Amino acid sequence: MNEKLYQRHFRIINEHVDQALVDMQEGGEKISCGPGCSYCCHLLVEISEDEADALADWFFCQAAKTQQLVWQRLISKSGVLREFFSSRRATQKFITPYPAHIDIPQGVFTRYFSEVAAPCPFLEDGRCVAYEHRPGACRLHMVSSAPELCAPCCDDDSLYHLPPRVEQLRREVLEALPDPEVTVLFGELSILVRAAIEKRLAETHFG
Ligand code: SF4
Repeated sequence: MNEKLYQRHFRIINEHVDQALVDMQEGGEKISCGPGCSYCCHLLVEISEDEADALADWFFCQAAKTQQLVWQRLISKSGVLREFFSSRRATQKFITPYPAHIDIPQGVFTRYFSEVAAPCPFLEDGRCVAYEHRPGACRLHMVSSAPELCAPCCDDDSLYHLPPRVEQLRREVLEALPDPEVTVLFGELSILVRAAIEKRLAETHFG
């Protein structure tokens, strides 16, 4: 069976993450992220279409009850995001998928986390239910500071510590991954995954 694009990307990311974890362990740097801590799952998460495809694959493998639950959360969260992005003219373009050369500015991430911080639709009891299919942004988010410093109430970003090896890891991954095709679109996780699921449902219906 051919490896899907997201499977190839996740394999490359995982290899780099594993090496970075070994390096940090050898250097005495301890990552404090772990099961049950989910502050970063309340951030805006920017993903590509193929990462949305990964989460849509996960979705369609679930039992009807889980699908219903996650679908309701996707509808609700994409509604929250629509309201958030449409509240300012400069962010209205993020309501719909956008090309690779456009990025959500850091200030928008910060404002969302301090004003909204709605949970990711895949978060359940503090854990990611789609962990094996989670996007690259989730795989590359690691801190070595105390978990509570990542809470939305700590609006001082300088309090939490991103180890230099994690910064290096992100650069390595960017270099290792193939450049996104001009045709690949990006978007906030909930908006893009909802669109991916709706597209597949429409194809099944009318295909
Ligand atoms: S996909 Fe999983 S790891 Fe990523 S933000 Fe959502 S719940 Fe968290």
